[in-house]
Amino acid sequence: MRAIIATMCALGLTTAAVGAVPSHFQPRAQELLADSIQLEPTANHLNVIYFVGNDREPLADYERRISELLIYVQQFYGKEMARNGLGNRSFGLVLNENGNVNIILVRGDKPHTHYAYGTGHNDCLREVNAYLDEHPELRTSQHNFVIMPTYYDEKYNDLNPGGVPFYGLGTNCFALDYGHFDIRHLGQKTREGRLLTKWFGGFAHELGHGLNLPHNDGTASQNAQMGTPLMEAGNYTFGYSPTYMTLASCRILAHSELFAPAGCTTRFYTNTTPPAVYASNFKRVGDALEVHLELEGNVVNVNTYVQDPPFQVNQDYDAVAFPCVMSRTHEGKTGAFVHIPLAELAELKKVHNGTIALDILIQTDEGSRFRWRVPFNLSQVPADGTIDMGAPVFHRGY
Ligand code: ZN
Repeated sequence: MRAIIATMCALGLTTAAVGAVPSHFQPRAQELLADSIQLEPTANHLNVIYFVGNDREPLADYERRISELLIYVQQFYGKEMARNGLGNRSFGLVLNENGNVNIILVRGDKPHTHYAYGTGHNDCLREVNAYLDEHPELRTSQHNFVIMPTYYDEKYNDLNPGGVPFYGLGTNCFALDYGHFDIRHLGQKTREGRLLTKWFGGFAHELGHGLNLPHNDGTASQNAQMGTPLMEAGNYTFGYSPTYMTLASCRILAHSELFAPAGCTTRFYTNTTPPAVYASNFKRVGDALEVHLELEGNVVNVNTYVQDPPFQVNQDYDAVAFPCVMSRTHEGKTGAFVHIPLAELAELKKVHNGTIALDILIQTDEGSRFRWRVPFNLSQVPADGTIDMGAPVFHRGY
């Protein structure tokens, strides 16, 4: 079987190349995937891992259920990339001959309670990486998506799943499985339907983190038109009410390992040196801010995010994203410019009151992201005055 998988990778037989929905998928999955778009083949593929403790077995029918859910999410990402003008591109998945996603089953060395929410990811990842080191043909990128079955104890069960890691950490992310985790409940106004949106929305959102995405919100007018961004509170709306991906998110994905087109040989995330910044300033122009940057030439994308306090981890869901217009200067530098109408920040409650932050996320051509926060007070930005943003202090990652 492993040899077959390796051959399939070599031939590029991924989801993209397989047009029809697998016949063993349930009718509801067939229906939901009927309007699938043909996706471009990718050079790299997500490592999908189902991880169980040494005292547990995978939940019934997990291969079909998780495959249906993952292919639906792959289509969602692909359609949002296309809507944002970036082509029919999504993250690569390795498929088995029957059309299921190739899910790598890894059995932990310890009982399942060892791999708990908050701490269990460390040993889990160590064991997953050891397994992939032993089976290198199964490692098809640097991105691992680890799914663990819920605990079953006095607190957790199929109607209240939990206990296991559920978050993103760099190129790794964690989601969970439970008995009713089945796409047939998608959008249903039932207990299982509401439960599915919560955990399937979380599955799609955490995967976004694992694919390099930070939290972000859309502008006031985008949200009015399209609903909730997946990387804002879309984990609570996915499959239930309109959910979309911002252009800022899609532009990060476009330069990430799993979205690289077939034939791409780039070694991703190798750059640890932030790009040189030659100019960085912003100014107030009427009821808008304008940001201008001049950067080293290997920068391919710049997103700006406007955020109000608090600035701690996981308080950034409401950071409004504005992707820059990119240009090339005659000296071979990269220019980035963005116009931010203040009216589009309407959902940021504290924008006119106290310190807010402008976050600059810079992405280089091999997918690395460098982020730089510029705090400022809008009331102190003089009309038509230019503020120099000073020397950048970068954090790698998002
Ligand atoms: Zn999140």
